[in-house]
Amino acid sequence: MASINLENVQKTFGKVIAVDQLNLQIREGEFFTFLGPSGCGKTTTLRMIAGFYYPTKGIVRFGEKDMTRVPPEKRNTGMVFQNYALFPHMTVFENVAFGLKVRKIPSTEIKNRVHDVLEKVRLDTFSNRQVSQLSGGQQQRVALARALVIEPEILLLDEPLSNLDAKLRDEMRTEILRLQRDYHITTIYVTHDQAEALSMSDRIAVFNNGVCHQIGTPFEIYNEPANDFVAQFIGEINFIPFEMDKIKEEKIEVRIIQGNQSLSVKRIPFNDVEFSMDEKLILSIRPESIKLSTQAMEGENVLEGKIESLQFFGSAVEILVKVQDITLKVNLLNPADLSVLKKESMVWLELPADRIRLIPKISGD
Ligand code: ATP
Repeated sequence: MASINLENVQKTFGKVIAVDQLNLQIREGEFFTFLGPSGCGKTTTLRMIAGFYYPTKGIVRFGEKDMTRVPPEKRNTGMVFQNYALFPHMTVFENVAFGLKVRKIPSTEIKNRVHDVLEKVRLDTFSNRQVSQLSGGQQQRVALARALVIEPEILLLDEPLSNLDAKLRDEMRTEILRLQRDYHITTIYVTHDQAEALSMSDRIAVFNNGVCHQIGTPFEIYNEPANDFVAQFIGEINFIPFEMDKIKEEKIEVRIIQGNQSLSVKRIPFNDVEFSMDEKLILSIRPESIKLSTQAMEGENVLEGKIESLQFFGSAVEILVKVQDITLKVNLLNPADLSVLKKESMVWLELPADRIRLIPKISGD
């Protein structure tokens, strides 16, 4: 097992800066996820850790050891690729044994190790099957077994579930987590799927355009996003333009632009830095944090609006409410009575002060 440290890492391809000024410390035994949209630099970063690319600038360390220019075969990392990269003409056994043969391990030891790892991924009865005769989920398990059999210090998984259907993806998530805990192996998982990242990871790094915007636990990233890009990438969110009114000890009072309604916001420092009055900020709240009532309400942070549309999803209802010129999304979990919620009817929304976040706005309008 090893920790991984990236120090000021940059990778360019011609004029394209694929990854820039990246500083990351991944702890021993951690399940760490790189999350971001297509082309944001996740795979490039993973490949620099595997040794398939060398950084243009910066240092890659495993523990204290400088690995920046060490070739892949000398790194003791196991990798699972998006398309599995299995040898289709070989059996399951031969695919998994391949890495051990290359390392000139004696054949009895190869047999034992392949047998053990196939048991772990629950494929022990498939040893003699050609991989071309396996289902997608089974091929995925072979790819995992092939990465794990060499007993790597670090496991690298590049969008390993993207070729599977939704149900199988759910099963394989649990399977991967079980294997990671069993082997207690430092793991980096690349995905653009926020639900996958939130549900599997110890910590997540959120990337966009080659830049890492935030590193934190799923809870921190969801509840205390570093900026509007992270907030909207990691889940649904309402953004509300506002003007700052005044700052009182614990609370900031703001006025919604286009409206005359006041909101107070608990003063929350983000990234351990207090924000300043001249920073470009935006007010944000998650749809499930808004309380909705069909009865008139008064009080702090109550907004009056009209239902614009309503969508029923079984476990939740998504309601769009027009408040003056702003549309707010509200998610209600399994309401007992839907008949009172009708299009065009008046509703009152309470935005609890401790669920509102003021966050830096980095993206354009
Ligand atoms: P995806 O989720 O689509 O795989 P990604 O986040 O993994 O995307 P990267 O593959 O790391 O993104 O690519 C980052 C940027 O670097 C992109 O603009 C991409 O076009 C560019 N890039 C990646 N590899 C190369 C290469 N070998 N040559 C030139 N440009 C590259």
